[in-house]
Amino acid sequence: METFEDHYASMVDTITRCMPGANLELIDRAVHYADAKHEYQKRKDGSPYIIHPLAVAEIVAEMGLDTDAVLGAILHDCIEDTDASHDDIATIFSPTVAELVEGVTKLTRTDFTSQEEKQMENLRKMFMAMSKDIRVVLIKIADRLHNMRTMQYQTPKKQIIKCRETMDIYAPLAHRLGMQKMKWELEDLALRYLDPAGYAELTDHLSAQKDQDENFMNSIQFTIKEKLSENGIHNTTYGRIKHIYSIYRKMKAQNKTLDELYDIYAFRVIVDSEIDCYNVLGHIHTIFTPIPGRFKDYISSPKPNMYKSLHTTVIGKQGIPFEVQIRTWEMHETAEYGIAAHWKYKQKAGAGSEKEFEWVRRLLEGQQDTDAEDYLESLKIDMFNDQVFVFTPKGKVVGLPAGAIPIDFAYMIHSGVGNAMVGAKVNNRIVNIDTKLRNGDIVEILTSKSARGPSRDWLTICKSNQARTKIKQWFKKEKREENIVHGKASFEAEMKRLNLPVSVISDPNYSSQLLEKLAYAAWDDLYAAIGYGGMTAAKAVGKIQEDIKKLLKGPTVPDPDRINPGLRINPDSEEVRRNRHAINGVIVEDIDSCMIKFSKCCAPVPGDDIIGFITRGYGVSVHRSDCPNTLTRTDPRQAARWVHCSWANSDEQPFDTTLELECADRDGLVMDVSTALFAAKVRMKGFNAAEMPDGRSVITISFEVRNVAELNKIRSKLLSIPNVIAAKRGQY
Ligand code: MN
Repeated sequence: METFEDHYASMVDTITRCMPGANLELIDRAVHYADAKHEYQKRKDGSPYIIHPLAVAEIVAEMGLDTDAVLGAILHDCIEDTDASHDDIATIFSPTVAELVEGVTKLTRTDFTSQEEKQMENLRKMFMAMSKDIRVVLIKIADRLHNMRTMQYQTPKKQIIKCRETMDIYAPLAHRLGMQKMKWELEDLALRYLDPAGYAELTDHLSAQKDQDENFMNSIQFTIKEKLSENGIHNTTYGRIKHIYSIYRKMKAQNKTLDELYDIYAFRVIVDSEIDCYNVLGHIHTIFTPIPGRFKDYISSPKPNMYKSLHTTVIGKQGIPFEVQIRTWEMHETAEYGIAAHWKYKQKAGAGSEKEFEWVRRLLEGQQDTDAEDYLESLKIDMFNDQVFVFTPKGKVVGLPAGAIPIDFAYMIHSGVGNAMVGAKVNNRIVNIDTKLRNGDIVEILTSKSARGPSRDWLTICKSNQARTKIKQWFKKEKREENIVHGKASFEAEMKRLNLPVSVISDPNYSSQLLEKLAYAAWDDLYAAIGYGGMTAAKAVGKIQEDIKKLLKGPTVPDPDRINPGLRINPDSEEVRRNRHAINGVIVEDIDSCMIKFSKCCAPVPGDDIIGFITRGYGVSVHRSDCPNTLTRTDPRQAARWVHCSWANSDEQPFDTTLELECADRDGLVMDVSTALFAAKVRMKGFNAAEMPDGRSVITISFEVRNVAELNKIRSKLLSIPNVIAAKRGQY
């Protein structure tokens, strides 16, 4: 079994080697702090938990990061797994270390697995965006590397999940940050579990030819070194087999066996200067035959992750092709450790070497134009500061512009979701719809069939153009509804003027025939056209006037008025008035058709005494008669705009309303209220509890009811809960 002592000694050894300026005393304190905190935890193999953080810290030290990063690595599981808090760590160590640990914890808590290929890039961006400090990413990658090294202790199912995630997220990130060494190890370890047979076949094959390979590599190495020494070029040269996953991928991609594969061997020549790189290239091409088209100059045009080297593929006397990579020591560090090499150089060369690392800045392109040195000092990752990444409840990643709110999210999912939105939950809690979303939030949109659609305010509070466009579209379409109402009213008025029965329009015997004559697909289309002004009511009625008369006189279609005049419904009777004029369940006196909206201040429901106010441009807004906002009734300047309203009989449409409970605070009160609501099958739309300084609390509940009777039932149920003092019809 692995022991604390072995790991501790090995870590200190690596720190001494790779981080000459490290504060070992502080690191020792962190180890003992973490060890005490993880005291009762064991690794899956039965060894003490502290071995894991020690190993992670060693990987971080090998990257050559700083003391803070090593402390962060040692403490990285403390917030997640023990009772240690951010504040504890900030006090005992430093706020920076606490931030690092907190950052790693956030990544640990977020699930980065996805089934969908197209989600990967967003997940990787989210990963980066969540870690404000690049060291958080590096510690997390080190954490994953050690977990991958000890993957044999996990269940087969967990192995597959973790290895997929490693392939999809961690290895590509390591690659993007230029850390080839870690990327290769992560990939090889993951392959071992993702395709055990393929991995075994390949490694068996490689180990079978190991002696042969080594002889070959030694002879090539000797030839190169000899030639370079003759020419006075100081160098370090060695050969290696390319890493397993890269060979595996090539075999799969080119459908070849190992023997058929080009260059599985790679040689490295590391020299002191860039000029020497080109000199070495010249010598290599004189002793071996270069394969045309295989030379790549990544020194004059580095890779996006700032990898620099000269690559060439040549054939030696044995007829075996191999690749030679030529680079300086600095290029080598960058190739192996990528972004982490920044710290190595900082420690070796002190300040001033930063210019060399302009590539870090370029790597993280997209961030605002900050001074490169400032940027490197703070080492913040701002590359995705214009975006925020959140999850749907099913785990799908959605990328939104920074500052986005649930409305943006809803419209990103589907315009139908946005239009039916009545509220939102973030991380399972109901929030205001203008709450700013943060990376990793799980966002759920609450919708209702009876939602009245977006409000114009949404246009100003939402962040994405997509949401704005869709909301505007809704209003455009909604105008159509308005136009239909207006058009229908003028059409019916014209029918009445000419003494034609309006009922003929909805009579299935005549309807389609008349519509055909008018050349419209549906009556609503005609009404909309009249509403828009694209057609006049007089013209429309004129077109069908004769037909209606003929139809009503025809022998097969008797005029109901003539057969039994007594049964004729008086168009002005109460019944017709109700059916014709009820809009959203409300009849507005003296107004044929208009937009109806329910005022948010008092949220009337059927059964309430109501009164309407003719607004400018938005139809009639309906208030409860006892609403304080109706007091302007008595103002002579406003009086004419108040109209009588009553409820139609329809109980079908639910109405939103709000109750404010005034309560004497006690434990479990909120729970009891929500249980009562749940038991009463109340269709909830919002729930908010606020504690008042005087020991009282106010619980505001918004929900749907069909009428005032139902509302009163709910109200008395709530009032029967102990400590609920009052239940007022509330303000929205
Ligand atoms: Mn860990």
